[in-house]
Parts: sequence; structure tokens; C-alpha cells
Amino acid sequence: MHQCDFDLCIIGAGIIGISVAYQAQQEHPEWKILLLDQQEAARGATQYAAALDSTIGSCNNFVREIATQSRNSYLELKKTIKDFKMRAIPIFYAVGEDSVNRLQEKCLRELSPLDSSQQAMLLETSPWFNLPQNYELFYGGDATIFSPYNAATSLLHAVKQSSKFTFLSKSKVTQIQQCDNGWLVGVAGNDSRTAARCVICTGPWELPFTVKDLNLDVGTKVKKVVSYKIDRPTTLRMPTIYLPDDGAFFSPTYEADRIILSITSPEWGCEPDLKQLKEKTFDVGIKQDLIQKFAPVLSAVQAEPVIFCDGYTDDRVPMIKKIADHLIFTGGASGRGFRFAPGIAKHVLGLLACNPKELGSHLEHEQLRNS
Ligand SMILES: Cc1cc2nc3c(=O)[nH]c(=O)nc-3n(C[C@H](O)[C@H](O)[C@H](O)COP(=O)(O)OP(=O)(O)OC[C@H]3O[C@@H](n4cnc5c(N)ncnc54)[C@H](O)[C@@H]3O)c2cc1C
Repeated sequence: MHQCDFDLCIIGAGIIGISVAYQAQQEHPEWKILLLDQQEAARGATQYAAALDSTIGSCNNFVREIATQSRNSYLELKKTIKDFKMRAIPIFYAVGEDSVNRLQEKCLRELSPLDSSQQAMLLETSPWFNLPQNYELFYGGDATIFSPYNAATSLLHAVKQSSKFTFLSKSKVTQIQQCDNGWLVGVAGNDSRTAARCVICTGPWELPFTVKDLNLDVGTKVKKVVSYKIDRPTTLRMPTIYLPDDGAFFSPTYEADRIILSITSPEWGCEPDLKQLKEKTFDVGIKQDLIQKFAPVLSAVQAEPVIFCDGYTDDRVPMIKKIADHLIFTGGASGRGFRFAPGIAKHVLGLLACNPKELGSHLEHEQLRNS
């Protein structure tokens, strides 16, 4: 039988595709790995991320597991990759009185009321913050903030050190079809490569190509994601202030040169196309209401919108779906793909490595999402 060109082909070089490449290389240093992207690496949703890893988990065990795995993996990466731009940041939760118990259930660690030194730190670093009536403040341990483009590309740089790894930018995949021993991946311009295994990580692009004879309805939808960079320098000591009732947070950037306000925009069904992704009146309304409520003194400060989109699932559990033997789709990270990428990559490798007929501890994704 014909030998494949590669042991693994990954389509999409966002934080998830790059993390899959890194994990594959760690587990199988003998594999020849190909990573393809239609543009340059980390130029999709990844570069727009506010890139916060909070300490909110989920009531779903699978999400809790990937959150914990990702957190541990990122700590390792920080130790091993030079200039990997992530830093710990205290996280405070401003919670409506009625929501406190619900939040406690979702948190990866116990929440505690702010002690006097944390209160003093909040006052000193975030004098603009206003705690509305009927809200309580809690301390939730350390979150993590990344410089997203830097973190993704420095991870890719580490993977590129192996002579068995190939990255091809400006290579848009247009078709995948089964061939001897694996998959034939067709690239625009009549080019193609074969690989024994294939992982599709196309983010909000949602499979714009065909996989011959296979049903590719993976069940993700595209949603607009919006954050604002408020033109107010801060300090490295500023905490993240998470507003779970509003699906929003205030955080410093990694560089602490601006304050990020991340909001939940209600817009669905958009295209990953900057020309079409615009700030709408309802986004402006949500931003203004949040600032009025939690940071009125920032009302007059310039806030530059950062707008892109992401793949979402109905239950917000990331999708890791086996389409066929040795062909996996992963995505639907639901606005948390930066945070979850290493954990998602571990599960993808688990599913790839095992004999599909004997999945053993690597449960099929449907079982995982319902666990
Ligand atoms: C404003 C904003 C704020 C966010 N804040 C956070 C946050 O605080 N924390 C967090 O964890 N997440 C956050 N996110 C979400 C996070 O950015 C995404 O979940 C994550 O980047 C998704 O990564 P990805 O690799 O799946 O997608 P992408 O980064 O979009 O990568 C997909 C890649 O696939 C390529 N591709 C697509 N189709 C093809 C094809 N046919 N052939 C070849 N290549 C193809 C694309 O070019 C792209 O590079 C935010 C997102 C936005 C927009």
C-alpha cells in the first residue's frame, strides 16, 4: 500500500491547531506533522482574543477537566518556552446577591470575600471601579492573561524546531478524501498531500471545504465576540474583575497598557470576515450600560472595539468530534478557545491514538459532553 506523506495533517493554525501540533509532537516525536493555514498563523480568532483564563469552570465534568488540564499545560509552557507571554493575575468576581450560590458551583476553587489587603489593592489599582448595590465582591484566586498573538506564535516557533514538522501558510484546504492508509488533503491551486490522520481546526470558518462522502454537520454555530480596549493605562497589579451576571469582564491587557472590557454580543450567524463584522448599536448599548454601572468615570474615555467571531456549541462544551476513523473535527470553543486549547489538544490526541473500535478511557465526544 502507498505510504502517506505525513503521519498527521492539521488544518488551521490558530491556537487550537498549534496546540494540537505541539501535543502531537510531545506524544509522538517520530511523527511527520503538517500544519496548513489559508493565511498566516494565528491570524484568525486567536489574534483578537482578550485571552483571559478565568477560574470559572462549569458544571460539566468534561469542561472542568479541560480547564484544569489547560491551566497545568500553560504553566509548563511558561517554564519551557522562552518569552511565552502569559502572567498570573488576581481575579475578583462582582456578583449579584441572587447569583452567589450558582457561581460557587461553577468555580474551580472556593470563592472568598475580599480581605483588607485585596480591598486596598482594588482601590489603588482600579479607582474607577464602582460596586453597585446588591452586588458582592469575591476573590477567586489567580486567573491568567496572555498576549495572544505572541503566545500562539511562540508555541508554533517551538514546534518548528523539529525537522519532522512542516508549516505551510497561504494553503487553503478545499477538499479531503479517503485514500490508501489515510486522507488526501487537497489545497487550492491543485496541490495535495496525504496523511495517515487528519484534524480539522478551522475555528469560525466552519468547514468551508468538502469531505467526500462524509456528513460534515458538526453542529457548531458562529457568534460575534466583542471586547473593548479602553484607553486608560493601568498597572501590572490590576486584577481582573469578572461580572458573571452580565457575561462580561474588565481586565488589564497582558502589557497593562489598556483596560479590556469584554462583553457578550447577542449577534449570531456572522461570517469570519472583517468587512462584515461591525460594531452594532446594541453592542454600544451593552458597553455603555456596563460602564455606567461598574465604571462611570470611564464613560468619557475612548474605547476601541475589537470584533471577531468564534464557533459556538449550544451547550458551550467544546466540540471534539470523530468524523471518521483518524479524521477529527475540533472547534466550538464558544469564546474560550484560548483558555481551553491545550486541554482540547490532549483529548484530540487521545482520540487519534486509540483504535476506534477499542476507545478505552478515551470516550467518544458525545459521552464526554454528557458526563
Ligand atoms: C474579541 C474576542 C475576545 C476573546 N476573548 C477570549 C478570552 O478572553 N479567552 C479565551 O479563551 N478566548 C477568547 N476568545 C476566543 C478565542 O479567540 C477563540 O476561541 C480561539 O482563538 C479559537 O481558536 P481556533 O484555533 O479554533 O480558531 P482560529 O484562531 O480562527 O484559527 C482557525 C484557523 O483556520 C484557518 N482556516 C480556516 N479555514 C481554512 C481552510 N479551508 N484551509 C486552511 N486553513 C483554514 C484560519 O485561517 C485560521 O487561522 C475571544 C475571541 C474574540 C474574537
